[in-house]
Amino acid sequence: MENSMQKLFRKDIVALEAYKSARSIGGSGTILLNANEFPSPNIYSIQNIELNRYPECQPIDLLNRYASYVNIDCENILVSRGSDEGIELLMRVCCIPNQDTILTFSPTYTMYSKIAEIYGIKHIDIPLIDNTSFNILEIKKHLYKVKLIYICRPNNPTGHLFNLDEIIELLELTLNKSILVIDEAYIEFCIDENIVFLLKRFNNLVILRTLSKAFGLAGIRCGFTLAHKDIIRLLQKVITPYPLAAPSIDIAVQALSYSGILDMKNKISILKENKVWLLNNLKRIHLIKYIFDSATNYVLVHFFNSNYVFNTLWNKGIILRKQDHIRGLKECIRISIGTKKECSQLIHELKEIALNLPQ
Ligand SMILES: *Cc1c(COP(=O)(O)O)cnc(C)c1O
Repeated sequence: MENSMQKLFRKDIVALEAYKSARSIGGSGTILLNANEFPSPNIYSIQNIELNRYPECQPIDLLNRYASYVNIDCENILVSRGSDEGIELLMRVCCIPNQDTILTFSPTYTMYSKIAEIYGIKHIDIPLIDNTSFNILEIKKHLYKVKLIYICRPNNPTGHLFNLDEIIELLELTLNKSILVIDEAYIEFCIDENIVFLLKRFNNLVILRTLSKAFGLAGIRCGFTLAHKDIIRLLQKVITPYPLAAPSIDIAVQALSYSGILDMKNKISILKENKVWLLNNLKRIHLIKYIFDSATNYVLVHFFNSNYVFNTLWNKGIILRKQDHIRGLKECIRISIGTKKECSQLIHELKEIALNLPQ
């Protein structure tokens, strides 16, 4: 950027490294297993919408449907432009730039820290022990200065499901001190593990949900924040006046109908069968050192030579997600579960790579 221009902008933003989304990294593939999307499209058509009118800020039909899906009241729900917007709105209502702090536990979803950076909010990370459990001693040392804590459960990119007991311990520890945000983006893949029932017990609990993963609707950008009604009211103050486009609202309402939910559940069972098949076959491939346990629609795999595997697959049009930039995940690649055909093509190519490995 020209020097004369540079002084107009925040120095930290000029220096900021932009978040690299799966889509922005690109790759000219036909088999996209890099963004944890649902592998097959949903067919919806947009019904009667008057596009000359602004949509409702918090569409009541949509809130009602989500409320009955999760079995809580509308006053405990905020709908937003994807759950990524929910992550951001919480920082806006809780954190003063250059003063307040958020806490994360790596390895985890990197959007939490990226959004904090954009807002100039401080960020502390306390690495998980063995990528699976919280370092409670270390957490206690920092709690007094932390406003917001983000936990992804099940975790992205590891697929790990933190123990309910550990979450409850953290909720008790943080009561009246910090807001604990549980990102349940993948909870439909292990729905019995959801912690919506804890909202009544802990007013510092916030849950994030999305239609982008199990519902197969990443394209409509629709997410939900579930929380105590006082928190929801504050979020309503800072959200944009028209966060969702009318066509998105229309499709989200259809997806949350009785048949839409049934369809989602059926597709999850098929996906789970693909996952079992994929895991059984991955286990027999010698390129792999370790496969992480996953409660989700993706698996994290530790390869012996991840760059070689990643690049070879990339050149064949099979696009996976590298994770080796994240602390603790050297040589790891995240693989979203695709259709049965996509899974078998992946296994086929991995076998080829194993056969032709350069010595
Ligand atoms: C995909 C994902 C989201 C983003 O969801 P959107 O609703 O599409 O914004 C949020 N959290 C995690 C952990 C995710 O993996």
